[in-house]
Parts: sequence; structure tokens; C-alpha cells
Amino acid sequence: MSESFLFSDALAAYYAKVAVRESPLLRRLREETAALPMAAMQIAAEEGQFLDLLVRLTGARRCVEVGVFTGYSSLVTALALPPGGSLLACDINAAWTDVARRYWAQAGVADRIRLELAPALQTLDKELQQGAAGSYDFAFIDADKGSYVYYYERCLQLLRAGGLIAVDNTLWSGRVADPACRDADTRAIRAFNEHVGSDRRVDFCLVPIADGVTLARKR
Ligand code: SAM
Ligand code: CA
Repeated sequence: MSESFLFSDALAAYYAKVAVRESPLLRRLREETAALPMAAMQIAAEEGQFLDLLVRLTGARRCVEVGVFTGYSSLVTALALPPGGSLLACDINAAWTDVARRYWAQAGVADRIRLELAPALQTLDKELQQGAAGSYDFAFIDADKGSYVYYYERCLQLLRAGGLIAVDNTLWSGRVADPACRDADTRAIRAFNEHVGSDRRVDFCLVPIADGVTLARKR
């Protein structure tokens, strides 16, 4: 479990001991990523477990991810898919996603994942233009915060009714609730939270796990 702004140190240690399960392959990916300067971008182990459960619970077959980095969440998602399932993975960074590709191959799930190295809005718009609206079951959004509302709107179109969107970092280490924080990313997360909170097209819940994960189910 990563450092938590929600839990005391004692509770975080207890949670890590009794509630976090991480496979040896995912642990190796976490350890390799830890050497990178941007390692903190990786999702927490318990969040990976949560995504795994969501993909399995929803029975998702067609998934899309916005923000791959070194591949932790995409690996979790691909491993949770049923046979024949697929993941469209969007990122712009070749070096980070080369690490991801290595782990997808080691896990035997590379053939389930289509990586598009391009700005995600472009990739999502292309999917929509090609007639993919309503054909996805699950989306995970975890890239540049300033585009969250735009990613959400595209993913909502891509999802079938009953499909689920999970959006990472919606508590933003508590900065969303600090009026002194007025930087662009914090303002973007606040704007996203207000957008989804008033969106009657979805059932939703902001789950206080890791850095906050908003779940929105398309009605
Ligand atoms: N989900 C990842 C994981 O489990 O480790 C972490 C993703 S990291 C927080 C954000 C990623 O978004 C980075 O890999 C970055 O290259 C990517 N990104 C930033 N801007 C993007 C854009 N416009 N389109 C697609 N990906 C973008
Ligand atoms: Ca994140």
C-alpha cells in the first residue's frame, strides 16, 4: 500500500498486511517502476486490486484505458478479462509504454491489448468516428488532469448502457478541499468532480481508496 493521506500510519500498515494482494509479476513491475523519477504516477496496489474486481464484477470484455505509464493498471485489467476480451490502451510516451509492453508479454496478455501512441482525445475520437459508440464495457481514466472532463465525455459515448467508468486521483491528496490550492490540475479535478456529481446520465460514487477513484455507471 502506498502512503495514504486518509489513513493513519498504523491503519495503513494494518491494511497493507491484511488487505493488499499483489502477484509476483505486478510486484516486479512496481519495483522496476520505483527506479523512475515519475514512479509516483503508478496506481497503488490496492487500487489495482480494486480495478481487477471491477473488471471481473462487470464482466467487461471491451475496455479502454487513458494513461498507461509503465503498465500497472493495464496489466491488471488485461489479466481480469475473459477469453476474447480486449483493452485499448492510450498513451503518448514510448519509453514508459515499452516497459508496459514487456510486462504484457511476460503475462501472456499482449495479444489482448492494442496500444495507441497518440494524444488520447485523438484516439477516442477516432474510435467514435469508426462507429465504436456504445460498444465498450469499462473505461479507466488516469492521464493529464486538464482533459479529464473531455476523456469522460468521450468514454461515456463509447460505453454501453450499464458500462462503468473509473477515474483516478479525484481526491488529489486532499488538495481539492484546500482553498489555497489553485493550480491548474487541482482546479481541473474540482471541475471534473462537479461535472460528474451533477451528471444525471450516470449513477456515481467517489470511492475514497488510494487517491480517490470516481465510479460512474452509464444509465
Ligand atoms: N495508469 C498508470 C499506471 O497504472 O501506472 C499511470 C498513468 S500516469 C498517472 C499518466 C499517463 O498519462 C502517463 O503515462 C502519460 O504519458 C499519459 N498522458 C499524458 N498526457 C496524455 C495524453 N494527452 N494522451 C494520452 N496519454 C497521456
Ligand atoms: Ca493516477
